[in-house]
Amino acid sequence: MTGVAALRRFASGTQRAGLAAAPGPAPEAPQDASAAAEQCEMCLGVLDERHGHLVDMTKRSLLCACRACYLLFTHEGAAGGKYRAVPERVCRDPGHPLTDAEWNELQIPVAMAFFFVNSELGQVVAGYPSPGGVTECELDLAAWDRLAATHPLLAAMAPDVEAVFVNRTDTHEVFLIPIDECYALVGQLRMCWQGFDGGAEARAAVAEFLAGLRRRAVALPETGER
Ligand SMILES: [Zn+2]
Ligand SMILES: [Zn+2]
Repeated sequence: MTGVAALRRFASGTQRAGLAAAPGPAPEAPQDASAAAEQCEMCLGVLDERHGHLVDMTKRSLLCACRACYLLFTHEGAAGGKYRAVPERVCRDPGHPLTDAEWNELQIPVAMAFFFVNSELGQVVAGYPSPGGVTECELDLAAWDRLAATHPLLAAMAPDVEAVFVNRTDTHEVFLIPIDECYALVGQLRMCWQGFDGGAEARAAVAEFLAGLRRRAVALPETGER
């Protein structure tokens, strides 16, 4: 139950942040006329269109942060761990693809889902985009652990701030991605979802999202041992 609530809060936080929004007001727009202008939620400075996000570990929500504030929280333990910077890396691990049998073991009812460690619950949570936002689904944790033991990418995600994104719609791909991007996609799909499967606009949004991940993805760095 807690997991669902946590996901919802993440989702609404991302929407409010307007990650996919059009360019903001003109630079000289007066402060009072720029209600839509994004502010750093830590120092209230004006944000660039591209900015970083922090996870507020207490509220389990995402905050927009300017570069300086973002960098304050990139190392573990900063501010007693109340805020964590969402890393920007996107990784893939072509050497350890997820087979059909392995995917089926997880018993996820859809072809596109994401997984992240909720450190508050102390476990991995699975979710997927749906017309209402994020739908959480039960995850066979033992099956996940078995997969993570043989798939370094699954074990590499940082708790709360990174997610494993699995796409098995047309292509079969697994990415390690920043968690804010999961929620940006969810928010975008919720706005354009039509009918049973999301419709053409949602499919186009997913295709664009995947193309962006492919462009940015680097090979998972070797960690040597686990
Ligand atoms: Zn700031
Ligand atoms: Zn933001």
